[in-house]
Amino acid sequence: MARVLVVGAGLTGAAAAALLRGAPRGQVAVWDKARGAGGRMSTSRADRGSADLGAQFVTCEPELAGPRLSFYEDLVSQGILKPLTAPVEGMVVREGSRNYVAPQGISSVVKYYLEQSGADVSYEQQILQLQGDIVNTLPLPVGDSHDAVFAASGTETPAVINESQKQQLESVSYSSRYALGLFYEAGTGIAVPWAAQYITDNPCIRFISIDNKKRNIESPEIGPSVVVHTTVTFGSEHLDSDPAEVQQIILSHLQRIVPSLPEPSSIKCQRWRYSQVTRAVPNCPGQMILHTQPLLICGGDGFTRSNFDGCIESAMSLAQAVKPHLQQFQSQAAKLPLDLL
Ligand SMILES: Cc1cc2nc3c(=O)[nH]c(=O)nc-3n(C[C@H](O)[C@H](O)[C@H](O)COP(=O)(O)OP(=O)(O)OC[C@H]3O[C@@H](n4cnc5c(N)ncnc54)[C@H](O)[C@@H]3O)c2cc1C
Repeated sequence: MARVLVVGAGLTGAAAAALLRGAPRGQVAVWDKARGAGGRMSTSRADRGSADLGAQFVTCEPELAGPRLSFYEDLVSQGILKPLTAPVEGMVVREGSRNYVAPQGISSVVKYYLEQSGADVSYEQQILQLQGDIVNTLPLPVGDSHDAVFAASGTETPAVINESQKQQLESVSYSSRYALGLFYEAGTGIAVPWAAQYITDNPCIRFISIDNKKRNIESPEIGPSVVVHTTVTFGSEHLDSDPAEVQQIILSHLQRIVPSLPEPSSIKCQRWRYSQVTRAVPNCPGQMILHTQPLLICGGDGFTRSNFDGCIESAMSLAQAVKPHLQQFQSQAAKLPLDLL
């Protein structure tokens, strides 16, 4: 039986797995090295609050979304995305575009696709290389920010990537940032007139959000939370610094920008070494086939762009590329009932 291993339970991997739904139980698996789903669409939880430490908004540009428009519509109809209504200062809104937030946290988008997929999802499973009965040894050319879809075909041919593929993959570049999540006791008041704001005149901080307010989930039972994103320059300059020191620097800038902010009950500091793609893999249709037998495909926002739309484009392209191989295996192995795309 052909099996598919989706490496990475971020948005691209989860959406790709959802597009492969219909496969018999056990045929598609998703593995992630982290303890939970989301990747850079992660929602950090503390006591009574939660905070989106990575992606903040899902922006739909209907004219550009094309075949991906139905993905936005589906998430909105399921109540997973809601229109952004809270005031965000300094946000550039293109004409015709719509901004959404995820009331349950941005990771709920990824979790929705994982549920839809029906795949077996395992966490704390880091892929260092692919090996075993089916494939001997396979160096996996995925970094922290790439998803890979691997379909094992039963061959024992070791797969390696060639020099030109390696160069293409190495040409991808990412910005780096830090994020702070500040969590407060339920009932704490944060007296600012905005839900979020983009900062343009601070060397350290680029974005601040009162995260529950941004997501429109203000209630006396929910502990408010604040999310801070640093500038890319600050992120790069402090990439290998001690996180505790970085946290103190960010907090001192935050204090100057929002002096009225109360003392949080807990703080989480997240380093995004691979934050957003600044140069994607050139000339790629959202994925790259690294090896055909066995099939090894790389995808993710590194092959498109760092937003919801880019990930869905990559996921669709990954699923399209896997489909003929599964059909080929189907005809070889007693036609498996797959309902792809
Ligand atoms: C600070 C920040 C702000 C952002 N703001 C927005 C925004 O407002 N709107 C928007 O649309 N986008 C935003 N983005 C971009 C968006 O978050 C990403 O484009 C998207 O989440 C990428 O999804 P992905 O699945 O391709 O990669 P990832 O989310 O990085 O997922 C990859 C997954 O693979 C796992 N993994 C990696 N290597 C291995 C391995 N060897 N074995 C097992 N598992 C592995 C990782 O743990 C991770 O879960 C933002 C990103 C950041 C960091």
